[in-house]
Amino acid sequence: MNIETLINDYKEGKYSVEEVIRTTLDKIKNDDLNAYISIDEEGAIKRARELDEKLKNNEEVGKLFGLPIAVKDNISYDQMKMTCGSKMLEDFKPVYNATVIENLLKEDAIIVAKTNMDEFAMGSRGKTSYFGPTKNPLDKERVTGGSSSGSAAAVASGDFLVSLGTDTGGSVRGPAAFCNIVGYKPTYGLMSRYGVVSMANSLDQVSLFAKDIKDVRELSSVVSSPDEKDMTSILELYDFSSEDYDFAGKKIGIIDIDSAIYDTIDETVKEDYKKALSVLKYLGADLVDVDFKYLKYANNIYNVVMSSEVSSNMSRFDGLRFGHQADSYESVEEMFTRSRSEGFGEEVQRRIALGTVYLSANDDQRIYKQGLKIRALIKKELEDLLSDLDLLVTPTNISLPPRLDDDYDDPLSDFISDGFNVIVNLAGMCGISLPVREGISGSVQFIANRFDDKKLLNAGERFLRSINEN
Ligand code: GLN
Repeated sequence: MNIETLINDYKEGKYSVEEVIRTTLDKIKNDDLNAYISIDEEGAIKRARELDEKLKNNEEVGKLFGLPIAVKDNISYDQMKMTCGSKMLEDFKPVYNATVIENLLKEDAIIVAKTNMDEFAMGSRGKTSYFGPTKNPLDKERVTGGSSSGSAAAVASGDFLVSLGTDTGGSVRGPAAFCNIVGYKPTYGLMSRYGVVSMANSLDQVSLFAKDIKDVRELSSVVSSPDEKDMTSILELYDFSSEDYDFAGKKIGIIDIDSAIYDTIDETVKEDYKKALSVLKYLGADLVDVDFKYLKYANNIYNVVMSSEVSSNMSRFDGLRFGHQADSYESVEEMFTRSRSEGFGEEVQRRIALGTVYLSANDDQRIYKQGLKIRALIKKELEDLLSDLDLLVTPTNISLPPRLDDDYDDPLSDFISDGFNVIVNLAGMCGISLPVREGISGSVQFIANRFDDKKLLNAGERFLRSINEN
């Protein structure tokens, strides 16, 4: 089943939109993975009935007609609460729709649920949510990955064909890899950020989960649009059309996984990466080892840039304009401090503190400025590499999904797994995580230059077709 077959089935009268929505609602109300924060039962059924009427009356139907969809809870939809996985916004209901939501509604999709997520999108495991961790549908003892934990679980469990997440430093590709589905992070600017709660705005991008790349393409063509409300958005509609991609003779950059610098990569992930490379070779690709010398700085630079932007973006949640307000206080200062201490969890507080140091005026923002310089070098290096390559292929995560009860002492250690993901955000490029085999396993990431998304998806589709044939 994919979006195309679903819509054809509606048109042939195999079932009604209301029936599909009711089945979806039954499934998600019995969800045992903690994937959802809010469900719009009434609204979804009402909309389903309206759409059934539309079809009955032979009106023209949208590209996502009757498609149930789950959306990460940091994207504004004015019919539902938006918590960002935080106590700070536990009861917050937005008053307008994000552009990406408007785009979905215009094409007749139905937003059924808002999904669980790491608090304000900060995390790699899906464990920092105020509403508790999400369980991995492939193995309930393991994490889904984060921060778009619920959106990954929603698709991997089969509740939804597609879902929306956001990816600032791997938050869609990471959980896609842990849940063994497809996760696509578009080029920065392709998806409007208007109405999406900023975590680190120079890195954030609305991103998608699906099992079938055709669905990724279909959904992307609706979600992506120029948007005058987001000054970093593209100026013209992007063409996501399908084209045959032939690997024969294409120069594909790969990582020499047996080299000592990659000794932190899990052995199974290495094996699965090699399996993927053998498929590419079989398809005729010309695999070239790349030497990526700034990669070793990527996690630290991500941490500096991300935390600095986080500390600034989070300042609006002060208990006065937005969010949780403390019950008692003696002064305005105390109200701010208490509201923020009570409303934010530990990980968010840690990043605000770190960002405040990086941006410190007393130190002339030295760390932040240094971070920006090295970010530019990472971007330049990736651009130089890709100017000579068709695609770059890396493992997505460097480990398999950890167990839910596996806690770490050093919070920074959690960032290690994101190394290959964050470079894509730092450079504003596009990346897609693709499964290599069934079950818990290592996934691969294809990386392409800015606005080479069409090629990225077509190449991904060719690769997956080959994986599924074997
Ligand atoms: N794991 C990264 C972090 O914790 C990714 C966050 C994201 O992409 N939203 O910051």
